[in-house]
Amino acid sequence: MTVGFIDEMMRGILSSKDVLNASCGEVTRIRTINPRSHRPERDGLYDERIFGPVNDWTCFCGVYNNAPEHEGAICRHCGVPVLPSSVRRTRIGHITLAEPVIPVCYLHEKPSRLSLLLNIDPTVLKDFACYQYWLVLEKGDLGLEPGLYAYDHHFNNPLFCSDYTQGRIISGGRAIQLMLTRLFSTKDAQGIENPDGKTNLQIEFEKLCAQYSEDDEARYRVLSQFVHGEIDPQHLLITILPVIPPVYRPENSKLGKSYFPVLCHNRNVLKDKRLHHREVRREISEMSRLQGSVNHLINMLSEVHVTQ
Ligand SMILES: [Zn+2]
Repeated sequence: MTVGFIDEMMRGILSSKDVLNASCGEVTRIRTINPRSHRPERDGLYDERIFGPVNDWTCFCGVYNNAPEHEGAICRHCGVPVLPSSVRRTRIGHITLAEPVIPVCYLHEKPSRLSLLLNIDPTVLKDFACYQYWLVLEKGDLGLEPGLYAYDHHFNNPLFCSDYTQGRIISGGRAIQLMLTRLFSTKDAQGIENPDGKTNLQIEFEKLCAQYSEDDEARYRVLSQFVHGEIDPQHLLITILPVIPPVYRPENSKLGKSYFPVLCHNRNVLKDKRLHHREVRREISEMSRLQGSVNHLINMLSEVHVTQ
């Protein structure tokens, strides 16, 4: 992997799919360096199996000890590749997020391309990111018709929890993801195929062109970019987060520490989802924290200068 790639990834140009393709493994644990052995922990943020060996051509268990003649081999016992330690400047890992995250750039840019694309107010988009706005998918116990709702007295109602656990009401990146899926779908709201296999986005764009006014200029430009494939909709949400090479995030650096809250909230969200009796309010606040911690990390990444 090249320095240019890492740089692009940090500036958020690459999609989750690109990150996954480039990743050498998934980081699933918050652990870093073992305090006794001073070696990276397995599945942690500095794992040698993912990021490469700490010592040149030497695996974790010692079967390969400074063995450049075996370069490229993977130790059968510990799974560490036999490579020079310099690969820890280039190998990346990833974290699979329990919930899609709305990237900070779309929340703060003016005009916000994502809000123009979805035809929602930028403040509504921000409220979705904070789980203060909800998308009702079907009429449930709360009795709300499908649509968008601000977090108000309805949601203090105990019936909210039942609608939420039944998946009738969603928020955050998941709601935005669903709105995007609908927009790029060739079926209308009733599930009927559009004429000529057009996507809902194309139909909306044609409508906008037909009754064009200057007020629509910004929206027209954004829709046009998506209709003509200049922006890949897959770039709009983060589902796979890159873990940059260890060299750029020493254990005690601000950036190094920024990965901890992400992994911690991600683990909590996953745990909450698996529970039989879910604590809905806690789950929602964990998802909101996950969104916040990922965006804090992205802000930190944008300040890193990658060097050869
Ligand atoms: Zn080994």
